[in-house]
Amino acid sequence: MRIDILTLFPEMFIQTLGTSIIGRAQVGNLVEFHFWNIRDFAKDKHRVVDDTPYGGGAGMLLKPDVVVDSIEYVKRFNQGPVIYFTPQGQTFNQQQAKILSTEQELILLCGHYEGLDERVRENWVDLELSIGDYVLTGGELPAMVVIDAVVRLLPGVLGDDQSAKNDSFYDGLLEHPHYTRPANFRGLSVPDVLLSGHHEQIRRWRLKESLRRTYYRRPDLIKTRSLTDEEKLLLAEIVNECSDERG
Ligand code: SAM
Repeated sequence: MRIDILTLFPEMFIQTLGTSIIGRAQVGNLVEFHFWNIRDFAKDKHRVVDDTPYGGGAGMLLKPDVVVDSIEYVKRFNQGPVIYFTPQGQTFNQQQAKILSTEQELILLCGHYEGLDERVRENWVDLELSIGDYVLTGGELPAMVVIDAVVRLLPGVLGDDQSAKNDSFYDGLLEHPHYTRPANFRGLSVPDVLLSGHHEQIRRWRLKESLRRTYYRRPDLIKTRSLTDEEKLLLAEIVNECSDERG
């Protein structure tokens, strides 16, 4: 995958994307990043990239001519969709990460100040993404979040290709709890079934705990998921256990 990033602060990315799994993905040629400083497309000698909004009010906007020149230049090398980060965009989630991981190329546009001139959003942007209902100072952190979530799904990036498939949200549930050695830690034990070596019972326990966790923490996910017969049965057990506990 080739990802081109348009930003006023390319230096923010270097450490994050050069480290751990994403760093190794670059070394292994599974992904390549190209950074473009939007300021390099400014036309005047002071390299100005922002201007005041028509109609007045606080804050500055990125100049449309500078941003569009930068997008059009990058499109010479990258034919992927242009993604703009904005708190007003579609909320990014694992499903969106899966879809983006099937692209060969992506262009990521990081906003700053009050953001972009509306004409650029309407005519040069293919997808607007938000990473949540809060406002950050720039699109660089959202871009890094999206890159991390997408790149780890590319074939060969994670050591064990299965591990992304067991993660929370991958198939619409939160992941089950995990334990590691020692079996007894400060008097706290590990569920017996995990020490049993009985694969079928372990699979069933994990599925049930995954459902339990989702039922309590993210009931919205359970409502939108079509459950298998086994999952319906396990969920009924969980609900019964819950009413038993309430006595
Ligand atoms: N005035 C804008 C608004 O109210 O929608 C917010 C601008 S914000 C201060 C500056 C830039 O940060 C945005 O252009 C966007 O690129 C980025 N940004 C801030 N919060 C974000 C979020 N939750 N998701 C994605 N991008 C965000």
